[in-house]
Amino acid sequence: MSRVRILPDDLVSLISAGEVIENPSSIVKELIENSLDAEAKNIEIEILEGGIKSIKVSDDGIGIHPDDCMICIQRHSTSKITSRSDIDSIHTYGFRGEALASVAAVADISIRSRQTTSSLGIELIANQGETPVRKEISRPEGTTIEMANLFSRIPARRKHLDSPSREAQRIHEIIMKHAIIRNEVGFRFIRDGVVVIDVPLNQSKRDRVLELWGLEIVKSLIEINHTEDSTHIRGFLVQPPLSRGNRQREYLSIRKRPIEERRLSLAVEEAYSTLLMSGRYPIFALDIDVDVELVDANVHPTKREVRIENIDTLIRILHSVVRDALEPSIKSVSQTLDEFVESSISKQRETIMPAEVEGRQSSIIVEEGLLQPKSLMRDEVEGLGGRFRVIGQVSRLYLLIEMEEGLVIIDQHAAHERILYEKLRDKVNSGSVMIQELLEPIVIRLDSVSIEQILEVAEVLKEVGYSVAEFGGNEILISSLPEILQQRANEIDMISLVDRIIELGVVAKDKFMDEIIRVTACHAAIRAGEVLDHRQIQDLIVKLSKTSNQNYCCHGRPSMVRVTRSELDKRFGRDGIEALKRYRARHRIE
Ligand code: ADP
Ligand code: MG
Repeated sequence: MSRVRILPDDLVSLISAGEVIENPSSIVKELIENSLDAEAKNIEIEILEGGIKSIKVSDDGIGIHPDDCMICIQRHSTSKITSRSDIDSIHTYGFRGEALASVAAVADISIRSRQTTSSLGIELIANQGETPVRKEISRPEGTTIEMANLFSRIPARRKHLDSPSREAQRIHEIIMKHAIIRNEVGFRFIRDGVVVIDVPLNQSKRDRVLELWGLEIVKSLIEINHTEDSTHIRGFLVQPPLSRGNRQREYLSIRKRPIEERRLSLAVEEAYSTLLMSGRYPIFALDIDVDVELVDANVHPTKREVRIENIDTLIRILHSVVRDALEPSIKSVSQTLDEFVESSISKQRETIMPAEVEGRQSSIIVEEGLLQPKSLMRDEVEGLGGRFRVIGQVSRLYLLIEMEEGLVIIDQHAAHERILYEKLRDKVNSGSVMIQELLEPIVIRLDSVSIEQILEVAEVLKEVGYSVAEFGGNEILISSLPEILQQRANEIDMISLVDRIIELGVVAKDKFMDEIIRVTACHAAIRAGEVLDHRQIQDLIVKLSKTSNQNYCCHGRPSMVRVTRSELDKRFGRDGIEALKRYRARHRIE
């Protein structure tokens, strides 16, 4: 083995650049933060091929001094801190002086800048492996930093980059995160020549969310502005049912610095929990302002994590703020639950009624049924692999069915979903899907990345019955739906369908098609809370019996539970009687 040595500077730069720059979006993040630190009022980000080919960030901030531009691409060069004590109270995004040096280590970089106080600007061109060249230029106040040929000299890193469209999506997300918190700054994002974000400076928070996340979200917005001691929490929450299948729209920031902190996001998720189905995540953007001394931003090279001194207090405050804000929604959910319980009790009474009309008490029926099972099978019908009789509906969700072997409990939504899934799948396979044209097409506002994703799969959607087209800048128009949805599909359903498509991302066509059929079946199916009469229940069970996998809904959850007679007997302690019967039968005792 060779001897220990101090690495040469260029190698050190390359190694530390690897920590700061994972992909093009990390460069965009650093450049935006530099512009914000330079008090820019407007920031424009332009990328080609997901930023892999080039990134250009321009601002109208304070600019760089002509003598500083040569230094600022060196490691640990910063104008933001000067002493040890400054580290304890960081008021800027940057302070490590590593970003520009890291970019210069892995890509060609050029800086053009003019300070407010000087009449001439400066240009610095630093291509990888070449001596930087500096010259005077004339240009407006502010700074433009351009990067090209990312990782061109490190093929291993370049190979690990994702596709340009995926990298562009990451950049889009980073820009949105900053743009949502810094609504006083104007942002423009141009992707391969197309303007995809264009939000003006000094926009209201609400308008900013409207432009970036669309009208549906704004309709469900709850604004938060809470102060407790020296902690301020500001931003907004989105009311369920709007939600996502991942954490991508959980925006948390500390002193306007976007961060990732599991414990804080869990506190918010926890406060939402009764309002969201499992696997769904809330949408929110919350900024937490605490004393600067309590935050240590110097724990992660990209500063995406910070250390917060009183994190437990913060978790508590955050949880209760979100909980209080959502309280009206939580109340209304538990009210509906109460109604369910109320109605299921009266519904149960109704289901016993027909027997009473025939002059019997319900308790007697049970006894009789136990002794002579066959005598109960009056309204019995073929299905579920035998003959069944509908008892009724519980909680407007579970169907109670009696069969000779015992009790069958069926989830009405899961059962109907299974029926519709198989029906629609067969129709899609034979190319005979029925569609319904909408008199009033549904218009959904989305961000441009999502629009692109939806349009990419428009052909597949068409085969299932959805006609989706681009509709002006940031909107899509849905003009027809699979007929199976009937009157059930509303705007919220369509948004959650679109959401599902976005989450699915790029998958093989077959898998995508199947998923869309499942989602459609789910939306079209009878829901929990719908009252069904005996005939409807009977129909449903007969149809369910004809499906190929009646025991499971199309998402793999069980659609029925069977409780056998002997299980019931066991639970009611009737084991002894059964044993006695068996003993008598064996020994031929009458
Ligand atoms: P840091 O942001 O940690 O200070 P950087 O490497 O990102 O380190 O930037 C180095 C220095 O270059 C900054 O401290 C700042 O003085 C200057 N600088 C970078 N970008 C800009 C900009 N857009 N406008 C003005 N000054 C900038
Ligand atoms: Mg910086």
